[in-house]
Amino acid sequence: MEKVIIVRYCEIHLKGKNRGYFEQIFMNNLEKALSGIRHEIRRPSGRYVVENFDESRTDEIADRLRKVFGVHSLSIGTKVKADMEEIFREILRISPDSGSFKIQTNRADKHFPLDSMQINAALGGRLLENKPALHVDVREPDTVLHVDIRENGTALVFEGIIKGAGGMPVGTAGKGMLLLSGGIDSPVAGYMIAKRGMRLECVHFHSYPYTNMQAREKVEELARILSGYTGGLTLHVVSVTHIQEEIHKKCPEEMMITLLRRFMMRIAEKLCENTGAQCIVTGESLGQVASQTIEGMTSSNAVVNNVPVLRPLVGFDKTEIIERAREIGTYETSVLPYEDCCTVFLPKHPLIKPKLEKVEQAEAALDVNGLITEAFSSMETLTI
Ligand code: ATP
Ligand code: MG
Repeated sequence: MEKVIIVRYCEIHLKGKNRGYFEQIFMNNLEKALSGIRHEIRRPSGRYVVENFDESRTDEIADRLRKVFGVHSLSIGTKVKADMEEIFREILRISPDSGSFKIQTNRADKHFPLDSMQINAALGGRLLENKPALHVDVREPDTVLHVDIRENGTALVFEGIIKGAGGMPVGTAGKGMLLLSGGIDSPVAGYMIAKRGMRLECVHFHSYPYTNMQAREKVEELARILSGYTGGLTLHVVSVTHIQEEIHKKCPEEMMITLLRRFMMRIAEKLCENTGAQCIVTGESLGQVASQTIEGMTSSNAVVNNVPVLRPLVGFDKTEIIERAREIGTYETSVLPYEDCCTVFLPKHPLIKPKLEKVEQAEAALDVNGLITEAFSSMETLTI
């Protein structure tokens, strides 16, 4: 008797000719999620089975696997000999003592002497004899006891389904550069886009010494949490201190955020070129704050020439974003009260609808290229 984890995947079957490619990437991602833990992953048709692992770490393994994008659901079960006596013993062990149940058999081995219906009836009948407070309900049972008769003389027996993260395997949809602040939104934006299969690198802008080291550590922690879903991340950390000082000195106060955002975009686009990322991803949501109007987005898009800017949260309410942040485990870290670079030199009345022409005029007072080169020279790159 050996513990196993059954992994079911979603959407991959939709991909026709590319299926083999998707499955290989998915398999690699499962392997990566379990790195450091002894295990084997087998691939009988239609699912993946993790076995031969340290059973004292079962919950940890399930938790790591459930976060892998492409995982539809998991079940923790037992592998036994494909023998009715052994299967029944396991059914007896995992079944509750009362309530309703049904047995659901899937028979990959068509040579097994009983068919699925006969197996259901035989096991169900014996279970009722042994646990008289149970009853059968095939439509809405409290408990479904699954029996999966494999072709290699083994059977998997399990109960209960753990929901997986869903989505597409990371690595099947290109690479993006996520602007990762210390706030609530951008980690969720990264999660959403990674969930559609995109690999991520992150860039964080800080204004040290106006912002402190704790703010930086907070962002590293957010990147670490995100990396649990993406199978590793690269984080670029860039100082925008001098850029903010220059804007503060030379440009109208109310344009600070608008202008800073344009610098962030330019730096992000350059990073895309350097790293092969194919788009910029931000956590902006339309109308959420003064700088996230369509005019604000127009002003920042205007400096990006060669890649699209994806804003996966554009139509989300803040409450929806918070809910998602809690689910994915970034919320508690995001609400730690350290200052972000955008709050340094925060204008009393930021421009809500910046006019592109005015923005460009104001920016003419700055040595844009020089400031960007300087910012790049401050860059540190961490592997999370
Ligand atoms: P968040 O919760 O993601 O910080 P927010 O609601 O605070 O978002 P803003 O501060 O206006 O919104 O930032 C909008 C987007 O710009 C962020 O979601 C993020 O993608 C990017 N951004 C803002 N500040 C930074 C920063 N310091 N480093 C990297 N990206 C940033
Ligand atoms: Mg923010």
